[in-house]
Amino acid sequence: MPRLWAVGCGLGALLVGAPSLARAQDTLPPPSAALIQAHMRLRGPEGHVCAINFIPTPCPKVRLAFTGDINLGSSFIKDGVPPDTQASAFAQVDSLLVGDLVIGNFEGALSDTLPAGKCDGAKNCFEFRTPRWMAQRLVDAGFTHLNQANNHATDLGVVGREETTHLLDSLGLNPYGILGAIAFDTLGAGDTTTVVAVVGFTTYPFAYSLLDIARAKVVVDSVAKLADVVIVTFHGGTEGKSATRVGPGMERMGGERRGDLKKFARAVIDAGADAVVGHGPHVLRGIEFYKGRPIAYSLGNFVTWAGFNMTGVNALNGVLQLELQGNGSFTSGRFVPLKQVKWVGAVPDRNRAALALVRRVTRLDFPTTGAVIAADGSFTQPPAVRRPAATRTRRAP
Ligand SMILES: [Zn+2]
Repeated sequence: MPRLWAVGCGLGALLVGAPSLARAQDTLPPPSAALIQAHMRLRGPEGHVCAINFIPTPCPKVRLAFTGDINLGSSFIKDGVPPDTQASAFAQVDSLLVGDLVIGNFEGALSDTLPAGKCDGAKNCFEFRTPRWMAQRLVDAGFTHLNQANNHATDLGVVGREETTHLLDSLGLNPYGILGAIAFDTLGAGDTTTVVAVVGFTTYPFAYSLLDIARAKVVVDSVAKLADVVIVTFHGGTEGKSATRVGPGMERMGGERRGDLKKFARAVIDAGADAVVGHGPHVLRGIEFYKGRPIAYSLGNFVTWAGFNMTGVNALNGVLQLELQGNGSFTSGRFVPLKQVKWVGAVPDRNRAALALVRRVTRLDFPTTGAVIAADGSFTQPPAVRRPAATRTRRAP
C-alpha cells in the first residue's frame, strides 16, 4: 500500500507527496521543509496535532465539535438566500468549530435548478433548495463532516440528494448518513492510529433507522469492530418550542413516528457507541450519561436562514465539544451557548440563555443520570448513584 505523507486535522489533510509502491516504510524520504511548516501551522494550543493517514505526531485524544441543524437558505422562499456579499452566518462563531472532526447536520439540498420534489402540495411540508455556491461557507466555517440522515435530504428528490452528497464530498465535507455512508477517519497518534467512525440515524428509509432498534444495534456493533471510537448522531424527536423535553416513549410529529430516543441512544451505547448526539426537535434538549458515555439529545437549530421559527427557545443553540480518549472513553465535554439572530446567523449570547435551558432540562429529564454542567458550560459525569445496601436478615440460630 502506498504510504502518503499527509498532515491535517480531520478533513484538512494536506497531501504533499506519495512515494512509489516499491518503497519500504523506513526508506521514505523525510518530510520536506514545506511539510514541516504546514504541520506547525496546524498545531493547536496544546501541541495537539491529528492527521489522516500517516504522520508520526502525538495525538492522544480525539477532539470533536458538533452542531445542530444547518440550512443556509432556500431559493424557494422570497429573500430566502443571503446575498453573497453578506458575511457568512457562521462568521461570529467559527472559532468554536475546531476539532479533529467538526460535525453538523445539513438540512436541505444543494442545487440551483432542480424543482421541488418532496411535498407535492402537502400541508405543513417544507422544501429547501440551497444555492450551490453556499456550500463553500461550510468549508470556511470549519466543518469536516455533514449528516444527511434527516427529513430534508430528499427535498429535491433522490437526484437532489445525490447531487448534494456529491458536492459536499467534492469539497471534502465527508457527507454521511445515507444507507451505507458511514464516515471513517484515521487519526495519527505517534506510531499508532485511531480510527473514528460516524454513523447517522433517522426515521426515513434512505438512512439507518432509529425506529428499528434491534437493527440499529447490529449496525453499531458492526462498526465498533472496525473503529476505535464510534460516534452516533440521530435526527429524530418531535419538533417545536415545547419539544425541549425528551420522551417518554415514542415521540411523534404529525403522523410520523420520530423515535423512542432514550431507548435508542442507550441501545446503541450498549452496542458500542462512545457518544450519541441528536438533533431534529429544532430546540435544545438535555445531556445525560449512560455507561460513562455522553448523550446530547438535541442541539437545536445552528444556522437556519429562512423558513424556520427563530424566536424564544427556537433561537437558542450552541456548539457541543467533546474530548475522548483514543479508546472512546469520555475525557471532557463543554456546551458553548449561542443564539441565532435572524438575517445574521449564529452569534455569542451574553445572557447564556441556551446554557440555562440545557441545565434546566437536564436536571428535569435526568435527575440521576444527567450531566453535571458548570456555569462555564463544561460538564462531567454525574456521581455514581449509590444503591441502598441490601438488608440482611439474620437467620435465627
Ligand atoms: Zn430536520
